[in-house]
Amino acid sequence: MSSRRGRIFFRALRLRCPHCGERGVFRHWFAMHDHCTHCGISLASGNSVGANLLNLLLAELILVAVLTGLVVLTWPEPPWDLLQFGAPVLMVIAPLAFFPLSRALFVAIDLAMHPQALPDRPAHGIGSQLT
Ligand SMILES: [Zn+2]
Repeated sequence: MSSRRGRIFFRALRLRCPHCGERGVFRHWFAMHDHCTHCGISLASGNSVGANLLNLLLAELILVAVLTGLVVLTWPEPPWDLLQFGAPVLMVIAPLAFFPLSRALFVAIDLAMHPQALPDRPAHGIGSQLT
């Protein structure tokens, strides 16, 4: 992985703009701005399906890891009652908790796969005065 791609994913993991690294790409926990308020790169175009799929994948992988770890650590007497009721609760909470991370990571994946894409509109500078 190139250092540019690593930097893009590191910024996304910190819930910052993958392109410029600035904060403020989320309006609230469940919604991103359409464009980065600093660099103007598009954050919304066509990424909701992929981001939701990534969110579900992350949540399910974490659920399997937590449940497997709990069973392994407590073997031969796993807490089956806790697993029976805790797993469905975790299945609901995990996708909600990882929603912004999956959105930011999917923008980073898109940016890493299409590095030639330029911001749709510049937020600052000379170009912002032309629109
Ligand atoms: Zn930005």
